[in-house]
Amino acid sequence: MKNWMITGLFLLAASGLNAQAISGFSPEAAKKQRQLEATFDESLKKENLDAWMQRMAAEPHWVGTDYGAENARWMKEQFESWGYDARIDTYQVLFPYPRVRLLEMTAPERYTATLEAVAVEGDPYTAQGEALLPSYNAFSTDGDVEAELVFVNYGVPSDYEELEKLGIDVRGKIVIAKYYGSWRGIKPKLAAEKGAIGCIIYSDPEDDGYYQGDVYPEGAFKNSTGVQRGSVMDMPLYPGDVLTPGYGATEDADRLDRQEAPTITKIPVLPISYADAEPLLRALQGPVAQASWRGALPLTYHIGPGPARVRLKLEFEWSLQPAHNVIATLKGSEFPDQWVIRGNHHDAWVHGASDPVSGMVALMEEARAVGQLAKKGNRPKRTLVYCAWDAEEPGLIGSTEWVEDHLPELREKAVAYVNTDGNGRGFLGVGGSHSLQTMVSEVAGDVPDPQTDVSVKERRIAAQLTRGSDADFELSALGSGSDYTPFIQHAGIASLNLGFGGESSGGEYHTIYDTYPHYTRFKDPGFQYGVALAKTAGRIVLRLANAEVLPFDFKPWQATVSGYLDEVMETADKLRKEVEQHNKLVARNAYTLAADPTKPMPKPEIKAAVPYLDFSPLQNAVASLKDRVEEVSKLDTASLSKAQKERLNQLLMHAEQQLTSPEGLPRRSWYKHQIYAPGFYTGYGVKTLPGVREAIEQKNWEEAESQIEKLAGTLNGMAEYLRKIQEVQP
Ligand SMILES: [Zn+2]
Repeated sequence: MKNWMITGLFLLAASGLNAQAISGFSPEAAKKQRQLEATFDESLKKENLDAWMQRMAAEPHWVGTDYGAENARWMKEQFESWGYDARIDTYQVLFPYPRVRLLEMTAPERYTATLEAVAVEGDPYTAQGEALLPSYNAFSTDGDVEAELVFVNYGVPSDYEELEKLGIDVRGKIVIAKYYGSWRGIKPKLAAEKGAIGCIIYSDPEDDGYYQGDVYPEGAFKNSTGVQRGSVMDMPLYPGDVLTPGYGATEDADRLDRQEAPTITKIPVLPISYADAEPLLRALQGPVAQASWRGALPLTYHIGPGPARVRLKLEFEWSLQPAHNVIATLKGSEFPDQWVIRGNHHDAWVHGASDPVSGMVALMEEARAVGQLAKKGNRPKRTLVYCAWDAEEPGLIGSTEWVEDHLPELREKAVAYVNTDGNGRGFLGVGGSHSLQTMVSEVAGDVPDPQTDVSVKERRIAAQLTRGSDADFELSALGSGSDYTPFIQHAGIASLNLGFGGESSGGEYHTIYDTYPHYTRFKDPGFQYGVALAKTAGRIVLRLANAEVLPFDFKPWQATVSGYLDEVMETADKLRKEVEQHNKLVARNAYTLAADPTKPMPKPEIKAAVPYLDFSPLQNAVASLKDRVEEVSKLDTASLSKAQKERLNQLLMHAEQQLTSPEGLPRRSWYKHQIYAPGFYTGYGVKTLPGVREAIEQKNWEEAESQIEKLAGTLNGMAEYLRKIQEVQP
């Protein structure tokens, strides 16, 4: 009764929503599509997600395991039973298995790290002993090193600047860095560049442990023995199989020598728990770490170097393992050569109930319901390709090899790629190509949030409002971290990555605690948000598949690119002011006079001034794009003939490719996209307009100028391409 008013308002709002148009559909077709979506929703069963998770996450299943192969075989059978043509595409990929892991402190006292997470009561999966993959960082090099230890906070570029101010050099040392603050692979990469000979990464309880909440099994968070596994492959250079850059790792492919593979780390690196990190950190002396570096362990955080000395010895078994991608196709009734591709990975570090099985089972339930629609006469107009990727965890390997192996066909036929991964309770998050923002926003407005009386879009906007942002429903930009990377950044296929989260935090990520009991207690009890994910991704897929005119809208895209340009220009200005201020303080000797005279510090040096860059080629390109996009949005698609619509759709589905360049980004030619890339020194974190932005951040002015020219050329090319779209007239 108390909710009467709210419910009444909601019904009005909901009926208003349903009357709304769907981009790319005539009013008649939109009505039919909504009926189809209602039938689709009704057939989704949370019981399937539950049963399939119990099956797929029953045993550890990293790439190369029997259980991983069994999961692939079983999924193929499921897809076939739902009416799909399914096959398993297998690649032979290099995968390191840890044989020797030794970490000991040799001075000032002895401590040997246990490197062992404990089994917990009430979760039998954690007690599978030998079957659990030992904790390690995949694509660490082999090594046996001993040296003094230095604490480097998160081990990101700004941390090394702070160390430099203190006169602390990590050359010849072993560094210990906290997880978080960057993608993990950046830590050993940067440490090696700075001359360190080994790298330890640990989870501090402040970021990932008791400081966050009760630890497993009482709560969801990381207990003192939990260790986050994960890849440290240099993915910002290129992801996928380290031995076959840019081409498929087929049986008979040419392979690099392992010693030559540039994406394997230069120094050994090992992840440890906070129980194992504590004695090491306690034994450090030297300066006390500044407040922002300290974690939540009961000790005073010192930086070192030493007197703690550690020995790190790692040996891996390097062998080719079969990566099994399941590819299930439902041929389109009208446009069989236009593909909507939908994927999630199926391999896990251990059981992976959350990462990736929660996303995988939602994808499967979506595919089952779509198959059922097709059997009842509602076959999608375009071809659907459902993919279950293997070997995502060690470095997006299964998807990357598949994309590289099928590149020309994908660039010809792909309409879009829609990715999911682990999923949990909370808010809808979507990243991707901004030309798809309008379509995704419409979909989000039509999916009800399972635990409130509003749409998932309204709920997400409410969350943004409470954080002080009055932005509408917007897509984030894609960096890296899941299987969309080869599609968007290498192939130039418009892509999306989506999932729910934010009310399901925990410390299980990549540990032995990511299990069915943990998931169903803390992540998404009842699989309500798994079903919401199937509804959201399923709608995206069905609308892309059935639209008369593909729902690409370049207005939000242009506005977003324009915003990125403003950011980049601001970055250059900010950098200039910082350098001016720094030089002023150096000239006044202020740093030295303000420092503690009893703690000697190297005298800071004058920095080279930041020049004014000429951004006008980009400003002009963005302005002409704006005019062009205006014109395109006036296009009267309703009065186009069938042939004209076909021509328009061909242009629309290939538009994203205009944003790639064959030579790619400086020093990493695998990354072709000129708008989105993972940062060279942030890893998963995105860098938009990466060529220009990173040149500025690295203070490489010559390169910044040439990248401005290059990007302006790409954007002007896009404006020309939009003119072709505009010219499709009745
Ligand atoms: Zn994942």
